[in-house]
Amino acid sequence: MAAYTQESAAPVIAALVTKLNTWRREYYTNDAPSVEDSEYDATYRQLQELEAQFPALIQPDSPTQAVGDVINPAFTKVPHAVPMLSMGDVFSLGELQDWAARLQSGVDEAVAYNVELKIDGLSLSLVYEQGRLVQGSTRGDGNIGEDVTPNVLTIADIPHTLPEPLDLEVRGECYMPKAAFAKLNAAQEADGAKPFANPRNAAAGSLRQLDAAVTAKRELATFMYTLVAPEQYGVTTQHEAIAFMRRLGFATNPSSVVAQDLDQIDAYITTQTADRDALSYGIDGIVVKVDSLPLQAQLGNTVKVPRWEIAYKFPPEEAETVVREIEWTI
Ligand code: NAD
Repeated sequence: MAAYTQESAAPVIAALVTKLNTWRREYYTNDAPSVEDSEYDATYRQLQELEAQFPALIQPDSPTQAVGDVINPAFTKVPHAVPMLSMGDVFSLGELQDWAARLQSGVDEAVAYNVELKIDGLSLSLVYEQGRLVQGSTRGDGNIGEDVTPNVLTIADIPHTLPEPLDLEVRGECYMPKAAFAKLNAAQEADGAKPFANPRNAAAGSLRQLDAAVTAKRELATFMYTLVAPEQYGVTTQHEAIAFMRRLGFATNPSSVVAQDLDQIDAYITTQTADRDALSYGIDGIVVKVDSLPLQAQLGNTVKVPRWEIAYKFPPEEAETVVREIEWTI
């Protein structure tokens, strides 16, 4: 990166914030991005590095300071008692190693991880009272989401009732399988409508519908990966939380594993990267989480991301391959 002074960095930071915020509006509000995620990520990284060098220049509207999604005022607002955050990311094994070393240096016990696929969709919260589904909501700005309960009730793999009369909140990813995406875009083309840029945007556009009958036709699916307030159910690790949710009837991703060290994480990344194209849904990386839930709580969050998890994002050339395949499918 060029050497900057505080004076020369100020307009560069302002320009990066403006550019990223424009891209975020296109992505989150319109579900229609104009640039690849890899370009967004590289620009975001540039801003992060400059802000780290000149913290006095961090703007309140900087995308590094808040979770991104913009709330559509047509939906009823849902406050999240526990914020729904974004996630830090790394782009190489070296960066992942540094993250793990930093984390381990602040902790006495040897840290074990639960390693999961990063599903390329949008976050969803489901609330149950006495075992009945009463609310589904999007992440929104992290503190306030959009009420999409009628839409959620149309998603085939979401249980309307649980086998036990539990009060419960689970969170996970709502996504559109690759086959449903290809079918939807073929139908959009046939109707003379604009095709969706990728399955993630198609999933967001389909869940955030004011007419649940439209959502019902879109063949959305879910993988749940977060149990809120796990101590209420005697659950103390992330891998147990996933098993607990699976037993209650939620769709959970079968690929997650516990890893004791970086070699095991590395092996997981290698296998999952190789198998990625064969999956029936899109993934944009691997998520590495501290497995112990009490340790997660102890490590806590920054203003935007949890300290106990990180996304290892796939390199851009692979992302581009996927985009080319999608364009070809369209
Ligand atoms: P993110 O999508 O990079 O990561 C956080 C999200 O990952 C979580 O909120 C959750 O929904 C999801 N996730 C999937 N699998 C998970 C798992 N197993 N465990 C936990 N979480 C899981 O972060 P973000 O803040 O939602 O979005 C930022 C990203 O969006 C950027 O890195 C960029 O790639 C993309 N983006 C692109 C544009 C563009 O114009 N192309 C604009 C804005 C954002």
